[in-house]
Amino acid sequence: HADIAMYAAKGERRGSHAFYQPEFHEVLRQRIATERELAEAIERDEFELHYQPRVDACSGRLLSLEALVRWRHPRRGMVPPGEFIPVAENTGQIIALGALVIDRACRQLALWRAAGLDVVPVSVNVSAMQFRHGDVHDHLARAVSVAGIPAELIEIEITESAMLGDLDLIRERLAAIRALGIRIAVDDFGTGYSSLSQLQRLDVDVLKVDRVFTADLDHRPESQVLFRAIVSMAHALDMRVVAEGVETVPQAAILRDLRCDELQGYLVARPLPAADAADTIRRAASE
Ligand code: C2E
Ligand code: CA
Ligand code: CA
Ligand code: CA
Repeated sequence: HADIAMYAAKGERRGSHAFYQPEFHEVLRQRIATERELAEAIERDEFELHYQPRVDACSGRLLSLEALVRWRHPRRGMVPPGEFIPVAENTGQIIALGALVIDRACRQLALWRAAGLDVVPVSVNVSAMQFRHGDVHDHLARAVSVAGIPAELIEIEITESAMLGDLDLIRERLAAIRALGIRIAVDDFGTGYSSLSQLQRLDVDVLKVDRVFTADLDHRPESQVLFRAIVSMAHALDMRVVAEGVETVPQAAILRDLRCDELQGYLVARPLPAADAADTIRRAASE
């Protein structure tokens, strides 16, 4: 159990009593197993991307696709990101994994273009750890150039929490990425502590309002008031607003009334494997 001991030393301080609790031991063992397997998976690139549409709230027209990573595990089958992204963030493996995701998204766009598709932009999730410690700007620049695609086809999604800290440094980094032609979206807006004025100073292009707010829309009138305020302020600051997690027709109708720009969620489409996403792009282009 040398690994486990090392983990305990690296991790937060815990009483020895807590450490010897069997559940803790089991959780630790699982994390170590996942970390090892992740290292191999990154080595062999066992990941694929699924793509979830974002559509115009009024016309339903396809506007872009969000790339969502999936781990095609040799034994466990398709593993959802919730089971390995948090581990990868803790171990720092998210930097290598995030790089693979960026490469894959750019390559996919190049393939679609080569197949004659009239592509839409793809947004890629960039985690806090990756944004702070990886050289995301350089990697994005290299990836779009290697793939031979316009940088305007890429958007990045960063959570509010990743934008906490040294605001000048963050603004500089975001500006450098925007200078490439890449748009910046704030992911899961409303779950953190950032203010809209702070985000405007960072020159963010898109506000993705977290799906907890969407979920409340059709049964809590207060949440409509809140949403309306977010939309009007975001528009005044020249940002587009996307509602995440739209699952019902009433939610979509309310969001249209509230002047929300874009919808994303199971009502529109689930995240789609690349081949199905290609069909969606083709259908949108022929409409
Ligand atoms: P997220 O960025 O907020 O992505 C949206 C998640 O909500 C996706 O789950 C999506 O499948 C799910 N979703 C979409 N529409 C609906 C809906 O109408 N209802 C409900 N209940 N859920 C909906 P997924 O694919 O499991 O991803 C979970 C999280 O994992 C993502 O949340 C993101 O934080 C992270 N993630 C996924 N791919 C990547 C990646 O490539 N890099 C990084 N750093 N994080 C990623
Ligand atoms: Ca996202
Ligand atoms: Ca989100
Ligand atoms: Ca702006």
